Amino acid sequence: MTRKDKFDFSFEEIVKQANDAIIITDSDIDLPGPKIIYVNDAFTKLTGYSPEDVLGMTPRILQGSGTSDSTKKAIRDALKRKQAIRVDIKNYSKQGNEYWHDLSIIPLHNAEGEVTHFAAIQREITEQKRRVDELNALSNVDSLTSALNRRAFDALLSEHFNIKSTTSCHLMVMDIDNFKVINDSFGHLAGDEYLRKFVTTVREALRDNTDMIARIGGEEFGVFLRGLDDNTIDKIAKRILNAVKELNLDWEGQTINTSVSIGISQVLDTDEHKNDVCARADIALYKSKSEGKNRYKLS
Ligand code: GH3
Ligand code: MG
Ligand code: MG
Repeated sequence: MTRKDKFDFSFEEIVKQANDAIIITDSDIDLPGPKIIYVNDAFTKLTGYSPEDVLGMTPRILQGSGTSDSTKKAIRDALKRKQAIRVDIKNYSKQGNEYWHDLSIIPLHNAEGEVTHFAAIQREITEQKRRVDELNALSNVDSLTSALNRRAFDALLSEHFNIKSTTSCHLMVMDIDNFKVINDSFGHLAGDEYLRKFVTTVREALRDNTDMIARIGGEEFGVFLRGLDDNTIDKIAKRILNAVKELNLDWEGQTINTSVSIGISQVLDTDEHKNDVCARADIALYKSKSEGKNRYKLS
């Protein structure tokens, strides 16, 4: 029974009108890669490339600097083995716009069972990817202050130890002075607003936005500083102390003002775990508090 006997319609018509982009290539995987012999209308709509632009070319023209090397390798390996593969991949349109798509590549067999072509089906998922990235970012952020949360900060420190970085790094921990008094005198909402303003103030004092502030406790914060000498660290600590001292929060006709205490420790070659450097920073913070607050100590 031929296909004609089975169905009285053209499969090409379905492929032509499908909403997913479809590319058919030959199965010659030698460089520059399989050659495109067919693209449907959705392909042109998604990529901006007309059939004339791409026939005889390789689908690699859709890849670019943001396309993951490991994904490209996974595709190459599957094609080599003439196996199907499904990946999420970042590609580029003719105009150079990047888009994410869910890509399925299927080997097509002739009557003898040999793979003669590949069909690639691309479904755009740019919007879904953006939402997932957004959610991931949110799970790293403290919702009250928009500082990094404790989890993200721990991950940052762990990564430093995992990659055995040799860059000089300092850990700064901060605890707001007499914060209970703010809560007790002005209420919890005032305390919350002060925490938000505190984060903005410290961010500005840090200046370099690669140094990210994290909320590691109720009114305790951490900053991980990379590649700075002790002199610069001193300057930054002084800048934070001054900026916080100058922070005045207007609240129901009154002014809320306090200070912060800081403990700083440098990551040492002998530190094996993030807890080692954290413990020293905590000791330094404790010294700042016990010597009168509104100051920093290095340990
Ligand atoms: P010290 O100078 O010794 O640090 O004194 P302190 O009053 O700041 O004492 P401590 O650091 O122990 O105070 C923590 C207070 O922070 C107690 C708690 O009620 C308050 N706090 C913790 N998290 C929040 C929060 O999310 N919002 C508000 N408004 N207060 C918080
Ligand atoms: Mg505290
Ligand atoms: Mg405190």
